[in-house]
Amino acid sequence: MNPPHKKIRDYRDVIDRLEKISRRHKLTLTPIGDAAGYGHFLMTSRNGKPAARPIYLSAGTHGDEPAAVEGLLQWLERGEWRARNLNLFILPCINPWGYEHNRRENRDGVDINRQFRLGSCPEAQLVMRAVRGRRFDLAVELHEDVDSPGFYIYELKAEPPFFGEVIVRVVSKHGPVNRARVIEGMKSKIGVIRPSNFTSRMLRRKKWPLAFFLYTYHTPHKLTFETPGPRPFEVRVAQQIAALDAVTQKFPKLEGRTLSRLPLRGTVTTERDPPTRSASIF
Ligand SMILES: [Zn+2]
Repeated sequence: MNPPHKKIRDYRDVIDRLEKISRRHKLTLTPIGDAAGYGHFLMTSRNGKPAARPIYLSAGTHGDEPAAVEGLLQWLERGEWRARNLNLFILPCINPWGYEHNRRENRDGVDINRQFRLGSCPEAQLVMRAVRGRRFDLAVELHEDVDSPGFYIYELKAEPPFFGEVIVRVVSKHGPVNRARVIEGMKSKIGVIRPSNFTSRMLRRKKWPLAFFLYTYHTPHKLTFETPGPRPFEVRVAQQIAALDAVTQKFPKLEGRTLSRLPLRGTVTTERDPPTRSASIF
């Protein structure tokens, strides 16, 4: 029998900080249900124009990526985002058991980020229920790559304007960028991966990551930040914060309300790109 996993962080600290953030910055904190004995929360702000669709933010799908949760919390605590008049929809820690035990998977050993086609684990079901019927102008997931020497970003969007290069430029002032031409089996350019045949590749898979679920049903623009696991914690947190700042500063200027008027895909269409093999998706 495997030894029990050791608890190295306390999810109650996250909840305490969320409660303080919600009081201080006038966000609404709503319980959305329990999974594996942990309460899950949705945090929302409505500082933006009533007609504008919110920006989705989430972290902690993988419990061994702590700078993602910490970066999101610190960014919220600073409160500079308040001046940007944003409507926010935030799931701050999707895998609390993994966060406490520093494990990628949930308590049952399941990678939550492969369960978003069928909703086949309780944590994925909570997320799917929370976003049901909602549309986001933009969705951002905060992750870490335990092997990457530098920051990189996945961007899913059908056409320009794109954000990836701007974000990477800002983040590079706070730590290294992964400049490899291939990352996780996908073509990359100066830290930006924009998979061209992502849809056709994903449609053949049963195990959808949250990114593809959101991009298919809930948003026309999906970003995933990946900070470099081998770098110091403070550097990774600073990169997550810088990336969030960059995207929320640029967003209203580049997109504004124009995106809200774009129709969303009702169905998924298969692209014509030839299939390629990929090592992993996020
Ligand atoms: Zn991850």
